[in-house]
Amino acid sequence: EGDKLNAKLGKSHEMYKRACEHLCNGVASSYQLRDPWPIYVDRGQGSKMWDVDGNEYYDFNNGFGAMLQGHANPDIAAAVNDRFSKGSHFAMPDWDDVVVAENLAKRFGLPKWRFNNSGSESTMDAIRIARAYTHRDHIMKIFGSYHGHHDAVMISIYADYNNIGDRYHLKSLPYGAGIPQATVDLTVPVPFNDLDALEHRIEEMEAEGNPPACLIMEACLMNMSIVPPEPGYLEGVREVTKKHGIVLIFDEVKTGLTVGPGGATKLFGVTPDMVTIAKSLAGGLPSGAIGGTNEVMHVVEDGEVYQVGTFSGNPLSMAAARASLEKVLTPAAYEHLDRMNQRLMDGCREIIKKYDFPGYAQGFGAKGCVTFSPHKITDYVSFRKGQNAALNQLAWLYQANRGVYMAPGREEEWTLSVFHDEKACDTYLAAFEEMAHDLTK
Ligand code: PMP
Repeated sequence: EGDKLNAKLGKSHEMYKRACEHLCNGVASSYQLRDPWPIYVDRGQGSKMWDVDGNEYYDFNNGFGAMLQGHANPDIAAAVNDRFSKGSHFAMPDWDDVVVAENLAKRFGLPKWRFNNSGSESTMDAIRIARAYTHRDHIMKIFGSYHGHHDAVMISIYADYNNIGDRYHLKSLPYGAGIPQATVDLTVPVPFNDLDALEHRIEEMEAEGNPPACLIMEACLMNMSIVPPEPGYLEGVREVTKKHGIVLIFDEVKTGLTVGPGGATKLFGVTPDMVTIAKSLAGGLPSGAIGGTNEVMHVVEDGEVYQVGTFSGNPLSMAAARASLEKVLTPAAYEHLDRMNQRLMDGCREIIKKYDFPGYAQGFGAKGCVTFSPHKITDYVSFRKGQNAALNQLAWLYQANRGVYMAPGREEEWTLSVFHDEKACDTYLAAFEEMAHDLTK
């Protein structure tokens, strides 16, 4: 399947050779790499995209989940064109900021908001606010979770699970070089779905004189395939963090707006002190948002924390976000996404059953995936032990060769757009069935 795909990517190969001269590895961002060379994209429309060789794909990656609104969405295009024609940047407040903040406050049940331009900026800002609010330096995160590329959170992700310590004392491990040890030491990882380990570690940190400022986590993990919280876990986390004066941050960069209108916060019914949003907020334009309670966000309002950025709340992104929230992500759109996702998951489950295939399908809203594992994944260790990475990669190739572009990493899920229809879902299912058939015949 790999050779078959590479044979269709001749122009991408040519571009790659030239690109490597002045672009590190020929790509703008390390996660755009692909072995043996990246696929260079040409254009997108609705649920589809075309690469520079003219290959057509249903886009199930959707810009790592940022294109919930679909490519070249006419409502987003109209809003952005209109805004651009009136001037695209002033570094001054405009009315769209206010409308977007009001909309997000309603969706997530958190009253106070600020904007920036990416998921990384959102988690960075949220952590600083939590530190300022609590006057504490240490932070906690879930082992294996990705929260962006700034130093404080590039820790304890993608590590060798054989060497990460026990669940009560998971190690703080920098991912990649260039992260100061002093920063590594301030970030303490705990396992997902393990309330006992969380409480244990908090009490230990308190005893050492290092109580944590915050726990940053995804309510439902989205970078180890999809790992939902066990019943009662989020409620327990809410209670424990409250008891110990720890700011609970739900990182909704992936889940916010995609799993439902009010993100994972509304889906699972547990309200954190802060949420971080980005990706699908502005229909493909760079954007990020942080929302919080009046109490926590007061440190911004009284000037204690300077939350700034030249392009924060930039007019193009805010115009796109407003159109997205008001015109695109309607109740009917969510109903459609739920229906398409159900069709996909039902189809996958039938195939898995028919061919007695090692895996299971699950999803929420626009997000879903088949996890190629014989057992249920509940945390980082069970993911690394369980997931069949080779099969995952083969599934990716089967899809790419049959006109479906999936997220390239072994950790990722699919994100549907409002334009994904029955035909898109059935194209995916046919490719999946072909693989299951070929492997079990
Ligand atoms: N948080 C989560 C949960 C993410 O999945 C990501 C990106 N995949 C980020 C933060 C960082 O977002 P960005 O790439 O926009 O900086």
